[in-house]
Amino acid sequence: MEQGKKIKVLYFAGSGRSGSTILNIILGNHPQIFGGGELQNMREVYNDSKICSCQNVLVNCEFWSSVVNDWFSKVEEDSTLSGFKKWSAFEGVFSFRAWFKMYFGIGEKSTEFKKYQMSTSEFLRAVQEHSKKEVLVDISKNPLRAWALEKNPDIDLRMVHLVRDGRAVTWSLKRTAERQNRNRPTWRAAIFWALINRMTNLVRSKVEHKTLVRYEDFIENPRKILTQIGEMAEIDFSDIINKIENNADFSIEHVMAGNGIRKADTIKFETTKTDGWMQKLKPSSKNLFKVLSYSSLRKFNYS
Ligand SMILES: [Zn+2]
Repeated sequence: MEQGKKIKVLYFAGSGRSGSTILNIILGNHPQIFGGGELQNMREVYNDSKICSCQNVLVNCEFWSSVVNDWFSKVEEDSTLSGFKKWSAFEGVFSFRAWFKMYFGIGEKSTEFKKYQMSTSEFLRAVQEHSKKEVLVDISKNPLRAWALEKNPDIDLRMVHLVRDGRAVTWSLKRTAERQNRNRPTWRAAIFWALINRMTNLVRSKVEHKTLVRYEDFIENPRKILTQIGEMAEIDFSDIINKIENNADFSIEHVMAGNGIRKADTIKFETTKTDGWMQKLKPSSKNLFKVLSYSSLRKFNYS
């Protein structure tokens, strides 16, 4: 990797359950790209209980432990956990204070902010070096992190606002909650979905290189959507598109956090399973969702 060259990050922002894990895996099969997963969650996953897609716990995963050790040798921190924790002070998506500061650029000349930026750059540089890939996919989704990356002089941010029908997102959240014997009320999912997408709209308006993608359109016409992302990111995705059209296997390397599908060895691009919610989500939930998030559904052309 060339020293001094900006690190290109292909960043997916928006709500969870929108298909970013699949995109992370598919794009990670491009010879220039490493798809690491939700990089912002390093603090939560870098302990002995969370498993990398290579089936090792992260601290024992050869790849991630090398990345973290390398990064740790370059930042002045007492521990890896406290070092990662500092990221959330600047990019905590539900912190009004963090949004306020980012919006008005408050404190951006401070040593603290510069240290935070340096910590992020060193981490990403270590991922670049150990993966030997130029471009990094980060599916953290958090729009505030995207904004912080845009302001980082070491980063060349390419942002994809990934959106999926909020009722599909709600159905997915409910299904997971059910399995864990919890309840996920529709109103909460609806408000979360509309809010996170509004935040992402705001950040998208502040970012130079960006594109808006609906997950359903990617499933329906992957060639069109990958070409669109490729033009924005200035990366040629023809090989990936051909692999999808030939129903080839996509291998999964060291994806550190995200949807459970990352734990398989390989996946195929599948054209089904995007509209299951239409039959399964209760009519009362569908109606409540529409009432609460009507304008956002319309904005993204969901009827
Ligand atoms: Zn691993």
